[in-house]
Amino acid sequence: MDVQPITSMKYKVSCGTKTYVVDLNAKICLCREFDLDLISCAHAAAAISKSKHSLFSVSSYYTTETLREIYSGEVMPILHPDEWSVPVEVKSRQVLTPPQPTQAGHPRTSRIESCR
Ligand SMILES: [Zn+2]
Repeated sequence: MDVQPITSMKYKVSCGTKTYVVDLNAKICLCREFDLDLISCAHAAAAISKSKHSLFSVSSYYTTETLREIYSGEVMPILHPDEWSVPVEVKSRQVLTPPQPTQAGHPRTSRIESCR
């Protein structure tokens, strides 16, 4: 990836034909992975490594303390399917796979390389 600074906290990250803007201060990237998942995307990681800043701490969502807190309560095991109480109207339903849309045009034969 080609990383060019815009400011000390904002970077333009080019990957193939795509260009992303990473704002390390606001913790956002045009790919939206950085701001939605709260984990540095590949573009943010490239910008961080280019910058003089150290890696950012991850969100509290991904800490061991949060994981322990989530599972600190009672977690009931899933019983064997023979022991499940399923209503008759649900049991009689037939679940089919959703219809697959056909894509327009000739199917692609060569792989498009990903930047991730
Ligand atoms: Zn990104």
